[in-house]
Amino acid sequence: MEGRLVLKNCSIFRADGRGRAGMAVVVEGGLIRRVAPDAEVPVLPGDWEVSCRGRLVLPGLVDCHAHLVGDLLVPSAGELLLHPPQVRLEHELRLAAQLTASDVETLSRHAMAQALRSGVTLVVDHLSCPGDVAGALDAEARAAEQLGLRLVVSHSTHSLKGTVQAEDQAEANADFIKRRGAHPLVRGALGFHSSWTSANPLLRRLARLRESSGSPVVFHLSEGDHDLAATWSQHFQRVVPRLESFGLLGPLSVAAYARAVDDAESVRLAQSGTCVALGPGAALLVEPSGRALETLYGRQNLMGLGSAGHGNLWDALGAALVTALGAARGSRLVDPDGVLVQLFSDGPAELCSRLFGLPSGAVEEGRLADLVVFDCVPALDAESGQAPHLLGQLGRARAAWTIVDGRVTMREGQILGTDEVALAREAARVLSEVWARARLSDVEAPAVPARGR
Ligand SMILES: [Zn+2]
Repeated sequence: MEGRLVLKNCSIFRADGRGRAGMAVVVEGGLIRRVAPDAEVPVLPGDWEVSCRGRLVLPGLVDCHAHLVGDLLVPSAGELLLHPPQVRLEHELRLAAQLTASDVETLSRHAMAQALRSGVTLVVDHLSCPGDVAGALDAEARAAEQLGLRLVVSHSTHSLKGTVQAEDQAEANADFIKRRGAHPLVRGALGFHSSWTSANPLLRRLARLRESSGSPVVFHLSEGDHDLAATWSQHFQRVVPRLESFGLLGPLSVAAYARAVDDAESVRLAQSGTCVALGPGAALLVEPSGRALETLYGRQNLMGLGSAGHGNLWDALGAALVTALGAARGSRLVDPDGVLVQLFSDGPAELCSRLFGLPSGAVEEGRLADLVVFDCVPALDAESGQAPHLLGQLGRARAAWTIVDGRVTMREGQILGTDEVALAREAARVLSEVWARARLSDVEAPAVPARGR
């Protein structure tokens, strides 16, 4: 049996926002068992002591919508982003078609190590590997278990290549969920790409699978005007009512982006309990005019940040700040700091609690022991005891320790049992090979399409 983990002399924040220095946190069996003044918590034989020396301990960060592999395969680049969505997707799909399960394992391991390094302890991933859905989901699960990262992984199935293939992929996704069961760390979710790429038979099949399994479902919701236009022309419905009619919204649904959502739809989303995983960075890059943030926030939707990449939530937070300030200056939003706390902390914590069925998101007794020690000794306001600009203070700090499910995965900046440079080298080799295979398989179409075609 494993002993206790004791975090000594840490700074923590209570629910009232007041900081407390000189605290100890005891972790055992995957949960926080005790939070008390340091002097009251002796270190016992067999304990693992983490010497925090005043550093800040926070609940681990949650990336509500990631593309761990896809973001490595097709990194954001100016030229590509100038193309229309259909062309970008075609390019992504051409590369994803070349992936093997072994490629996915190598690439996701590298991406997960980076996520842990930035303080992320739970990733909700949206994987695209149409050639081997079952093998790729298993491969990603293995990588997460090996590194000790909490993961919920779904397959981004679409029906652009026909509904038979799509439904087979949805079944493989559902089989994976069954195989994982209620694993404490790594679980499956159903997934599809988006409304404009998913025909009715696929959504019907997913709805049935969801009903029988009760599993979460991950998808892109209203990616933008092209999604609305394509959905309307094919189904005579807007995106939110269409997905709602299939029963695909709900408290275990993670709807990414939500760029083109009107006020009435944001009310419906809030009533359904759907978690909206906003990607404000992607929104700025792709469709700067979107007002999703203020529309959704105004209706008390559950919102969390999604990197739409591989776990860099700090970039996403910076983009959220820019977006929230723009909305506040335009008198469309009154509380930009409240928006950031919801996106970065409260919303993601609620999503994690729903997905794993245990309370999370605070350094309190009985909560899930997903914790991060930051190299940050918070400066407190002497009168109120609160930390002004805490997110700003944190954004410049390194994650020193990450603890997931009560286990140390990173110690003083070193991910345990992993040579990160070796992971990066392996990932680079795989990427070069995949890009070369894609070029060979389709010599007619260039890997990065020329603009204006
Ligand atoms: Zn996605």
